[in-house]
Amino acid sequence: MPSNRKLVLATRNAHKVGELRAILGAAGLDVDLVGADAFPEVPDVPETGVTFAENALLKAHALARATGLPAVADDSGLCVDVLGGAPGIFSARWAGRHGDDKANLDLLLAQLADIAAPHRAAHFACAAALALPNGQERVVEGRLRGTLRFEPAGSYGFGYDPILQPDGYAVTCAELTPDQKNAISHRGEAFRALVPVLKELLG
Ligand code: IMP
Repeated sequence: MPSNRKLVLATRNAHKVGELRAILGAAGLDVDLVGADAFPEVPDVPETGVTFAENALLKAHALARATGLPAVADDSGLCVDVLGGAPGIFSARWAGRHGDDKANLDLLLAQLADIAAPHRAAHFACAAALALPNGQERVVEGRLRGTLRFEPAGSYGFGYDPILQPDGYAVTCAELTPDQKNAISHRGEAFRALVPVLKELLG
């Protein structure tokens, strides 16, 4: 039976809803998680923050205000050490057009062409924010550290998955199955870190 405690996740991506629902279920949290699709009248919020945490909080507060429900939002990206943390919050539009994964990845590989293997450290970062209709807020973060390949490999996943080889692995994120990636991913880590926060604030 669905719980009468609703929590809304600021995404129209069914995979993200499923991932968080599984994590909340495994933690024994009795909440009914719904995606932003359940509220088609609520507009998307411009991501005007300059950190992942600011953007996640902006999205969570906007959704909590609009729905009157506790809301979770995440923001994520790839941070490359030798680029001072870029593409960072610009990860989805690094090559100019939002969401063009291939152009973004090709541009990044070209920019790093002369950078030798020992200097190709990078990480995926994810901030996950919880906002309540009364204005209370929390934000937690997760990371997946690794090294950037010179050529893409693998066909699972999305975005920069084919070029990030997680530390301790001989394959890229795009060669891991979704379950294997979720177990070590920045988003999985951030969502799991939200569990105690939800237990505390939702009672
Ligand atoms: P968003 O937070 O879902 O909007 O993701 C922002 C962008 O960061 C995506 O478009 C990807 O380019 C990149 N990104 C975030 N998480 C991942 C990941 O798990 N794998 C590959 N790319 C990612």
